[in-house]
Amino acid sequence: MAVGSGTVGLRTVREANLGVVLRTIRESAPCSRAAVAAATGLNKTTVSSLVADLMARRLVRETGRTAQSGVGRPGVLLDLDDTSVAALGLEVNVDYLSVVAVDLVQRELTARHMPFDAREAGPQESARRIVAALREAAADPAVRGRTVVGAGIAVPGLVDAPSGIVRRAPNLGWSDFPLGGRADALGFPVRVDNDANLGAVAEYRVGSFAGTPDLVYVTGEVGIGAGVLTGGALLRGAGGFAGELGHLALDPGGPECSCGRRGCLEAMAGIGAILRDALPDLAPGRPLSGADVAALVDTAVGRAAAGDAVAVAALERAGNRLGRGLAALVNLVDPGLVLLGGYFVPMCPWLLPPCRTALAAGVFAPDAGGCRVEPSALGLSAAARGGAAGVIHALDSGALPLPEPADAP
Ligand SMILES: [Zn+2]
Repeated sequence: MAVGSGTVGLRTVREANLGVVLRTIRESAPCSRAAVAAATGLNKTTVSSLVADLMARRLVRETGRTAQSGVGRPGVLLDLDDTSVAALGLEVNVDYLSVVAVDLVQRELTARHMPFDAREAGPQESARRIVAALREAAADPAVRGRTVVGAGIAVPGLVDAPSGIVRRAPNLGWSDFPLGGRADALGFPVRVDNDANLGAVAEYRVGSFAGTPDLVYVTGEVGIGAGVLTGGALLRGAGGFAGELGHLALDPGGPECSCGRRGCLEAMAGIGAILRDALPDLAPGRPLSGADVAALVDTAVGRAAAGDAVAVAALERAGNRLGRGLAALVNLVDPGLVLLGGYFVPMCPWLLPPCRTALAAGVFAPDAGGCRVEPSALGLSAAARGGAAGVIHALDSGALPLPEPADAP
């Protein structure tokens, strides 16, 4: 709803109302100024002024068509201008960098997936590569000429989002690293967040089940994390560290985890654990190199598809363990929908049946509380898409400044 008068300054009220009008046009486009006024409660003169401002900032345009209303002068229809801005998203993980750019309507402009061993590179060199990858994305022919309004960076670990500091990312070997500060030179705002959180944002904004307000996105990487959305908002917790599903203790006598404990879910059903179990001849007990992961996943899936009993049994065991871990989460937050992402997606034909069975067995409510478990359709770009989607949403909500009018001095 529109912001009225009050303790905030005039400029702030106007900026907030620009966001309200932008969001209203996003939700109901194509729509007339009169429809925006009716939906927001703002008067028509104010709406006309705000729309003129958004047009000057090239965020809104007239479609050239008119509303088919019965009485009065027909209103010119408005739509979002998808030609002027771009938002970037990047995920750094154990074995890759994934970068995307999207426009104002969340349409993908460009996407790149690069093998990258972040653990081997270390935090300083990784930060250099991250900044370079964002610069390259901003200079991509599909993006060049647009105003880059911000970037969202996804990291697999505990992230203090307000400060951009990566507190602890054991699978990358990083701790207390100020990644957000390293990106200051880019010239646009950069936000850093946990990869699972941004995966959940991507599912909510652009995934196959977009708009589902209660969902969990589970990262399927060397680590396992859960992004938990309740009522359309991320569950962050008091310290911002909610959703560390991978470190749920599943078996006190189980294998050692990257966190130093034993028998955590990710030590038993993370991609490293699955590959060691499915490919005993190829993935011995040592930590996997980032360079190996994608090829070994392909091999494991190929063997399972060919009926290799060891590979099939390993994937089914992992599915059971995932289901047991997810049952704890479903009992606590009742999400209604769990999406398995990352490298879990190609493994889903074998993971999902035992996962669903174990979930139903472990959830107190009948039929797993109606909770569905499905593969994500966003693949390895989910967290990067979420980073970009979060930037666009931050424009609508006023959390990021709007681009300046084109004719500004
Ligand atoms: Zn652990």
